[in-house]
Amino acid sequence: MDSRVVVGVGNIYANEALFLAGIRPTARSGRVTRLGYDRLVKAIQQVLRGAIDMGGTTLRDFVNQDGNPGYFKQSLNVYGRLGLPCRECATLLKGTRTGQRATVFCPNCQSAQSFSGRNR
Ligand SMILES: [Zn+2]
Repeated sequence: MDSRVVVGVGNIYANEALFLAGIRPTARSGRVTRLGYDRLVKAIQQVLRGAIDMGGTTLRDFVNQDGNPGYFKQSLNVYGRLGLPCRECATLLKGTRTGQRATVFCPNCQSAQSFSGRNR
């Protein structure tokens, strides 16, 4: 995943948006289809809107005094859930590191083959 695609989006939101879009973080950005990008843009908007609805006031990653994301934990599909079952399909979530970012993804829901993402 080329971080320029999700520039300005905090790592929590990037993780969540990739999950919603069904795009694997290790997908080379040049191989993501136009449809995949459209889905990713919609997913980012959806994640950010959700964060704002829940009281998020910053687009940067935010951690409160307890060390928890300032985004309700139960609303997160993948971030911080490495090794736990996917909420959609129960496949164990995997982690990858791209540059400085640690990304958690579902190997089943986030396709490595078809970069167009899944239908949602
Ligand atoms: Zn899944």
